[in-house]
Amino acid sequence: MKHIYGMSEEDIKDYFISIDEKPYRSRQIIEWLYRKDARSFAEMTNIKKSLQPTLERDLLFDELELVTKQESKDGTIKFLFKLNDGNLIETVLMNHDYGYSVCVTTQVGCNMGCAFCASGLKKKKRNLETFELVLQIIMVQRLTGIKVSHVVVMGIGEPFDNYDNVLKFLEILNNPFGLEIGQRHMTVSTCGLVPKIYEYSNFPLQVNLAISLHAPNDVVRSQIMPINKSYPLAKLIPALKEYINKTNRRLTVEYILIEGVNDSVEQANELSDLLRGMNAYINLIPYNEVLENPFKRSPKENRQRFYDTLKKRGMNVTLRKEQGSDIDAACGQLRSKQMKNE
Ligand code: SAH
Repeated sequence: MKHIYGMSEEDIKDYFISIDEKPYRSRQIIEWLYRKDARSFAEMTNIKKSLQPTLERDLLFDELELVTKQESKDGTIKFLFKLNDGNLIETVLMNHDYGYSVCVTTQVGCNMGCAFCASGLKKKKRNLETFELVLQIIMVQRLTGIKVSHVVVMGIGEPFDNYDNVLKFLEILNNPFGLEIGQRHMTVSTCGLVPKIYEYSNFPLQVNLAISLHAPNDVVRSQIMPINKSYPLAKLIPALKEYINKTNRRLTVEYILIEGVNDSVEQANELSDLLRGMNAYINLIPYNEVLENPFKRSPKENRQRFYDTLKKRGMNVTLRKEQGSDIDAACGQLRSKQMKNE
């Protein structure tokens, strides 16, 4: 059995060839699945009846079970889904002026161990399969009736530690006969797995890259992000430059502001030196406090001062407003709460 939501058009084509059927049917299947949200082969009226038993034998329609849902005042909705094997994952829908974006989870737990993050408290149990990534988008659309226009791969897990499944997922979302989510409307965020950044630079789809930088130097970065010990800035920065040069795309730099850790004026200056000359856009994000660690959100004055310093230095920067902070929107919080209750 194959999971149909995990198959690209190419995979479905190969499957049809393997059962001596016309490969063009793969496109019809994609249209039924993603344009008309068909839930069975019986609904697919242009697929001949005699073919149905074979398709039903080989291809599986999965769903994710909705466990609970939290809606914030600003319209952000957080879904907790149960996978077939009982594991729980979070998916977040956000409403922006440019459309609706979904933040997807890529792994059950995470092994990166960032000190400030609630996700890393539960070690990685497994990677999500491609169909489980695609289903997060499908289920959110079904449950809300909203058409998702943007996807950010910034939920629990490290996407570059689940590289092949994540890239196939992006390819399926982009299919012009399916969901047709634009390449430029998709962003993958990494904590900095350098070899995969080089690989990603050669990926044919023009998808965006975000780097979770969070520090202007190795001393601070290694304190809060263990990955920095394997891939320090001297390795990371050249990889990011390669991505920018090869793809001609602007890099997003994520920087969460934590009080007394990375929010001083001196550090803002250091950050601007580090990124000078790169086609990068710095996204300053207020830290979402979690119960499990002592880190505190940088106070408003510090955030503003950090922003002003970067701005004065000519950097491309925004100070992000908080979204969904009334609903455990910080990564992993809903899931870790639920698991404590069990
Ligand atoms: N592993 C990937 C993607 C998942 S984390 C990565 O590291 O980029 C998505 C983003 O949320 C990262 O920038 C991460 O550092 C940040 N993050 C994690 N915990 C947070 C918290 N409590 N408050 C604000 N941002 C947080």
